[in-house]
Amino acid sequence: MSTPEKHTFQAEIQQLLEIVIHSLYTDKEIFVRELVSNAADAMEKLRFIQSSGEKIQDESLPLKISLTTDDQAHTVTFSDTGLGMTKEELVQNLGTIARSGSKAFLQQMVQQKEKSLELIGQFGVGFYSTFMAAEKVVVSTRSWKTGEQGWIWTSTGTGSFEIEPAEGLERGTKIVAHLKADDHDFSNAHRIETILKRYSSFVSFPLELNGKAVNTVQAIWTRSKSEVKEEEYQEFYQFISHESDTPHYRLHFSADAPLNINSLLFVPKSNIEKLGFTRLESGVHLYCKKVLIQSEAKGLFPEWLRFLKGVVDSEDLPLNISRETMQDSALMQKLNKVLTGRILKMLDEESKSNPEQYAHFYQEFGGCLKEGTANDFLHREPLSKLLRFESSLTEKGKTIGLTDYAARMPESQKEIYYLSAPNRESAENSPYYEVFKAKNIEVLFLFDPRDEFVMENLRQFDSKSIKSCEKSDLSLDSQASGLTDEQALSLTDWMKTFLSTEISNIQSSRRLINSPAVVVDEDPYTSTSMRRMMKAMQRDNPTAMPTEKYRLEINPSHPLIQKLSQQKELQPEIAEKVARQLLDTAKITAGMSEDPRILIQRMHELMEVALSK
Ligand code: ADP
Ligand code: MG
Repeated sequence: MSTPEKHTFQAEIQQLLEIVIHSLYTDKEIFVRELVSNAADAMEKLRFIQSSGEKIQDESLPLKISLTTDDQAHTVTFSDTGLGMTKEELVQNLGTIARSGSKAFLQQMVQQKEKSLELIGQFGVGFYSTFMAAEKVVVSTRSWKTGEQGWIWTSTGTGSFEIEPAEGLERGTKIVAHLKADDHDFSNAHRIETILKRYSSFVSFPLELNGKAVNTVQAIWTRSKSEVKEEEYQEFYQFISHESDTPHYRLHFSADAPLNINSLLFVPKSNIEKLGFTRLESGVHLYCKKVLIQSEAKGLFPEWLRFLKGVVDSEDLPLNISRETMQDSALMQKLNKVLTGRILKMLDEESKSNPEQYAHFYQEFGGCLKEGTANDFLHREPLSKLLRFESSLTEKGKTIGLTDYAARMPESQKEIYYLSAPNRESAENSPYYEVFKAKNIEVLFLFDPRDEFVMENLRQFDSKSIKSCEKSDLSLDSQASGLTDEQALSLTDWMKTFLSTEISNIQSSRRLINSPAVVVDEDPYTSTSMRRMMKAMQRDNPTAMPTEKYRLEINPSHPLIQKLSQQKELQPEIAEKVARQLLDTAKITAGMSEDPRILIQRMHELMEVALSK
């Protein structure tokens, strides 16, 4: 038998090994992923050669990856029946690096060390990660080429490797990792199984651990839609989402341009964020050719799509990139753009083809869409079409979108109107709604406090401005007879004498029918609800409040106002109480509820007067 031939590693490899061997990197387990993915690659290549009809060594040997652990000898072994390596290939592949991207990565690695280790596999140097956990690696291999003999490659990762011929090998490659004292846990079958489940569940060849098949799930996202069965989608969803039910929506799509993408995404049935315990984290994992690159990948989708589950596989992942910059990389942005566009398109189609199912989705995830409409300028327009509201023309509990609203606006109507209210009943009875009801103009009813915030951010839809009913200057075409203009003026002047410290203006209204009075915000840029919010935030610092500018509008045709006008001279004391009460109740209707104690006391006094008549 000849003595082993000694070879030195290429300088860059030596540098790499130096870092790998002395690294304190905690995710050493990735070496398992790398060796399994190399084995899968080797078999993929063999399959390709087979299909070209060439003559192949051990032709009938089935394609399979087998791992064995030996916790006595402290080894873990990776065998495959792939294409194997000739002597020259061994020297070339496991001693040098050819790819330029890999060299650049190595240079970066010298500076970044630990940070770069997790990416080691993406740079065509994954094999060497084995030396993170192994003090010696033995590779036995035999090429697919008939007439080639087998070879054994051995190295401790320090400067050189040895090669010697080997008898009796079958086609393929076997790699034995002799584990370092600190890393004996990798010879524990359970540990390896956990790692396989995490990283290699989608390997498309049979995978065995100590003779037992490891359950793999097919990477169905790379198959065409027509080939995937409903049960397979179901099984896959449960696997990837850790959910036990079915998804609400599914999007399976592939693209080649501008990017290679194979993706399978799901919208779950329910939103756990609604329970208020947690904030969802992205549940979409990034793969490159079926091998996990990053689980729960950040930056693949905008924040408001954090409820999605699934996988995105792209063969276009670049070489010289670290995980820290991955999130901001141009590629991630491109992926994000394409993927988000597809999701928006799907939601739009679903909302039209099956509104009931969409309503269910909206109930769960509408909050996320609102968040996106308010914050994500890039996707605001398509998002705004996905919003849903009840309106004065819908049945209770039924909703419409802005598109429908705009489509049925009469020619004469120029603006889109909404009204914030706690529920449908109070919206329909709101003084702000009266003029709209009289004129038969549709009003969107906003019951979720976030809706108003969204509308204020949106401001426009389909180049029509969106306006709160409180802010509209609509007036009734004709008003029931009531006070004359002079009487009304005399009444408002009188009211100003004692109310001017509380309200900036008082005037006669042309928008009221059933309500005696209403408070209107005079500032065109702030709504009453926004003021309410600011007030709540600045409770401890009242001086920081913006100057309040409200006017009180009174309804000259309302019997109460007419009586007030008559009685202001006859019973000035009671009339003043009534006027003050009118202002306070109008403020309550506007949602600006003040300290109720004064109001209640005054109410009691007025009740007493009423009873003594
Ligand atoms: P990469 O897989 O990105 O090329 P690696 O460092 O993981 O980089 O592997 C280097 C090379 O070694 C591979 O390109 C391949 O040619 C060869 N190789 C590694 N493992 C195997 C294997 N199990 N069977 C055949 N060739 C292998
Ligand atoms: Mg590799």
